[in-house]
Amino acid sequence: MSESILSIKDLQVNYGAIEALRGISLEVPDKQVVALIGANGAGKTTTLRAVSRMLRPVAGSVTFQGEEISRLQPHEIVARGLAHAPEGRGIFLNLTVQENLELGAFLRTDKDGVAEDMEKFFGLFPILKERLHQVAGTLSGGEQQMLAVARALMSRPKLLLLDEPSLGLAPQVVERIFQVLRDVSAQGVALLLVEQNAHKALQIAHRAYVLETGEVVMQGTGQELLDSPEVRKAYLGE
Ligand code: ATP
Repeated sequence: MSESILSIKDLQVNYGAIEALRGISLEVPDKQVVALIGANGAGKTTTLRAVSRMLRPVAGSVTFQGEEISRLQPHEIVARGLAHAPEGRGIFLNLTVQENLELGAFLRTDKDGVAEDMEKFFGLFPILKERLHQVAGTLSGGEQQMLAVARALMSRPKLLLLDEPSLGLAPQVVERIFQVLRDVSAQGVALLLVEQNAHKALQIAHRAYVLETGEVVMQGTGQELLDSPEVRKAYLGE
């Protein structure tokens, strides 16, 4: 296995009396796709939030590129190359598509590179170019999701955390999003992907973890989990 870009060790997060994560450990190898699957309330979103420091863990460590990041501020984490496209999309609905994309690049000083990246994402998501001056709130759900992914990528992350990118989208839009995730991965960006759509997630994942009530209960390659009778029964609806 290649070197890990992200290592999570014994991470514990509580919401008041609720133990949302009970000491989970996982690794994201550099340039690979790791999927996190599990039922509602298993702790998937909480894991991503703890990594990007939207919340503070009770215990455990999060190491990004060899550096402990669990005491850094969220913007310091973005500056190191870790972006988060959160559940509920996290785009600014009153701002235009262009303004959202520019905000995604707010820490960058290479104006030419930013313009170049915008063109690249318009190639991946042509609809965003058509909607460039439209406020994000008037986009369809699928377009907002594409914008959320593109916005997160505007920071040129080395690792992208993605929460439910396919939630509530029509099947062709889901296909498009997953195609883009494959392209992004092929360009060397590591992905930690939380998905209800376990089938699609496991298909693109090099490795995957199954969470149940705040604990890792199974792990393996995407294919191993696709082939596992337990996973097929519990998460693939078979
Ligand atoms: P979902 O797919 O529903 O988002 P999940 O696997 O992402 O599920 P989390 O959202 O991480 O799960 O939730 C883990 C646990 O923490 C659940 O028991 C949930 O009810 C609880 N929880 C999550 N957010 C909060 C919060 N802000 N306050 C209190 N409890 C919370």
